[in-house]
Amino acid sequence: MGKCIESNFEGGSIEYIENDDKKISLSLEHLEKDKTNHWFNFKVEKDFEDLVINIENAHLTGFWRGWEGYAPYISKDGVRFERTVNPFNYKYEENDDYRMGTLSLELNNVGKGTQLAWYKPYTIKDYEKYMEKVDSRSEFNVVNHKKGFKTVEYISSQEAETLMFIGRQHPGETMSSFFMEGIINKCIEIIDKFKNKNIIIAPFVNMSGAIAGKQRTDIDGVDYNRAWNRGDIPNINVLKTYIKNYNVTVFGDIHGDEVDKDDFMYVNPETTVGKNRKICESIVGNIEGLKLKPMLTKNQAIKNAIANGKVYIPNGQTASRFVEENNGFEDVFGFIYEISAHSTEPKEAYKQGEKLIEAISLNMDEELQG
Ligand SMILES: [Zn+2]
Repeated sequence: MGKCIESNFEGGSIEYIENDDKKISLSLEHLEKDKTNHWFNFKVEKDFEDLVINIENAHLTGFWRGWEGYAPYISKDGVRFERTVNPFNYKYEENDDYRMGTLSLELNNVGKGTQLAWYKPYTIKDYEKYMEKVDSRSEFNVVNHKKGFKTVEYISSQEAETLMFIGRQHPGETMSSFFMEGIINKCIEIIDKFKNKNIIIAPFVNMSGAIAGKQRTDIDGVDYNRAWNRGDIPNINVLKTYIKNYNVTVFGDIHGDEVDKDDFMYVNPETTVGKNRKICESIVGNIEGLKLKPMLTKNQAIKNAIANGKVYIPNGQTASRFVEENNGFEDVFGFIYEISAHSTEPKEAYKQGEKLIEAISLNMDEELQG
């Protein structure tokens, strides 16, 4: 039987192995070179009554713990996406060799053209359409950099306190794009609260990786959020210039998390004090269920898990670490926001983006009154 899978489109990613009339065997792409490639996105090009999709090498991703009970997204028309009725079947035991087993998904009545993706896609086209809308609002200026990279600016003065938010450093974490729309729309709605501030937003930092269907890296295999100590990544250089030219006091880097069932924020416990702590508490108070995690862990159990390869944490400088080192750890509230792929739907991610801005704006008010 011939190939019945198509992934040759923007953001498409999967490798076809074989199929019969009830089963398709696939594997995740690039895993030998890049163990972070959790993302998949493909179309089934044939009708199936009952279908089992097996992803043979899924146990090799660094985020293998995230597969059990995970329901990916399915669409009949490539526009409306919902979770699959059945989640993935992937059992593991804490002490077993986790590099065993196949990930499988049971589906019924799969029509030709059905699309399956790890999370609801948010394409370059979606992004460009949205940015056109933002550009038509006078409060925000959309700035075009090279190769389609765009930033959104609201500048009061060079010296003003500056809020900065970035998203999609990791291109497969599409949930962060829904969140970024929530951030931008809420900023536009309540721009009066930020009268004497600057806002700089880069909603989509790693476009080449998104087009190539990568989870964490760009088309050349570079993980942007571990590359802020390098000087050769044009989009990061643009962001570094903003950070050097403006007084950034709040810096949020928006991500999606493959494993955790909770939404959470990585913060630096040692420096989340004073004004930073107030902003942090406002955000946690305004977003239901949001948890905090320490950015630089002193927890020995977690350190051991990283050393054993049970938890995947790569090396290199992150965006928030760059900002903290550049501006002084206590002068900026830097955080990494992680939206749970398991638990949080795109609409909820959007709402969380709005709530984040609401919470920060409350703090701005207090400062003005004080
Ligand atoms: Zn990420």
